[in-house]
Amino acid sequence: MARNEKSKVLIPHPKSRFLRVKCLNCGNQQIVFGCSGTDVQCLVCGKTLLQSTGGKARILTKILEVLS
Ligand SMILES: [Zn+2]
Repeated sequence: MARNEKSKVLIPHPKSRFLRVKCLNCGNQQIVFGCSGTDVQCLVCGKTLLQSTGGKARILTKILEVLS
């Protein structure tokens, strides 16, 4: 009676989307992780470029390019 079901394990697509952003404060360009769980600061001036809002990250600066 036992039904042998093959349970397909779906591999979740990692939302590893990287963004090339430009700091509006100092003009520094850097690559940030688009789904980061933590705030990301500019490496040069310390301005917050990406703000974590509990799941979705809010981009607070200019996106130059989306790297997939
Ligand atoms: Zn900066």
